Amino acid sequence: MAALDIDGLVKRFGTGGDEIVAVDDVDVSIDDGDFLVLVGPSGCGKSTTLRCIAGLEEVTEGDIRLDGESIVGRKPMDRDIAMVFQNYALYPHMTARENMSFGLKMTSDLSKGEIEEIVEDTARMMGIEDLLEKKPRELSGGQQQRVALGRAIVRDPAVFLMDEPLSNLDAKLRTTMRTELQNLQQKLETTTVYVTHDQTEAMTMGDRIAILNGGKLQQIGTPLECYHQPTNQFVAGFIGAPSMNFLEVTREGTRLDHAEFSYRLSEATAERIDSETTELVLGIRPEDIELVDGEEPNAFRATVDVTEPMGDSTHVSLSIGDQQCTATVDGDVIVSPGEELWLTFPEDRIHLFDAESGVAVK
Ligand code: ATP
Repeated sequence: MAALDIDGLVKRFGTGGDEIVAVDDVDVSIDDGDFLVLVGPSGCGKSTTLRCIAGLEEVTEGDIRLDGESIVGRKPMDRDIAMVFQNYALYPHMTARENMSFGLKMTSDLSKGEIEEIVEDTARMMGIEDLLEKKPRELSGGQQQRVALGRAIVRDPAVFLMDEPLSNLDAKLRTTMRTELQNLQQKLETTTVYVTHDQTEAMTMGDRIAILNGGKLQQIGTPLECYHQPTNQFVAGFIGAPSMNFLEVTREGTRLDHAEFSYRLSEATAERIDSETTELVLGIRPEDIELVDGEEPNAFRATVDVTEPMGDSTHVSLSIGDQQCTATVDGDVIVSPGEELWLTFPEDRIHLFDAESGVAVK
């Protein structure tokens, strides 16, 4: 077990005009035993960060410390870290048992009997004891990933690094394996960094999530902090499905003017926003849009374009003039395409971002 600190991490690839800054001054601290999810769109630098921790990439600048001690410059095998990959990376000619034993045989001075016992105990804990004599080609994707996880677990490392380990599995198995992985991590209490591009996976799995974009850390916090108090427009749009709606507005005192409507802020809220900041983006989550009976302060007319019934709720695509919005309403609310509605955005649910910098101002 160990605390992991990433301090000012920079990773550049290439030189001169071809240079890519894959990781740009990232600071992340992970407490001993915590599960941190690194999440962000393709190419944001998640895998490179993970590979720097594992020692598979050389760090350009910054430090990575395990329990306060720098591991930069150490060989991967000397870092006490086990990595689980998307493609399982099992040795095809070895049985599951041999795959799980191999690392311990090579790096520990445990006896054959001791290794056997560790492998069997781990296989039992993971419910894969029946698979031990099978080769990878005889196993399903989910079974192969369990063996790959088992191989990481038997090493009893200080840290697990997982790079999209569930993305080759079908949707149903992925959901089951998410829960299994979480239970396993809680049982083992091993510090874990888990990479995914899937915000649902991040929201449901992480004690904390770190959101990256363009190599830069955007926000780090609990899933609900990132959901309810996004620090910028990128995080607000990335976390949550369907995504937050964004509407460009110009502020004049307490009034927010959109091409299609005006919205009145309370004095208290308006006072909190810097008076110089007039060009804003109003953000509202689909589930926070309220349907109202008729014209009332801060209510606007919208036309229903498409409805998507989900059972317990319905996603409704709406037009407010030319502006497209999505509202999520209770499943028993019946609305039809073409219908005109009145809707409002409760003030305590709206987010406001500086239109230029994207930084949250409310
Ligand atoms: P994905 O979800 O698609 O795997 P990612 O967030 O893990 O993306 P990285 O693989 O870390 O992103 O890549 C970050 C950036 O660094 C990308 O622009 C990528 O093209 C670049 N990059 C990664 N590895 C190398 C390399 N070995 N040489 C040059 N550029 C690289």
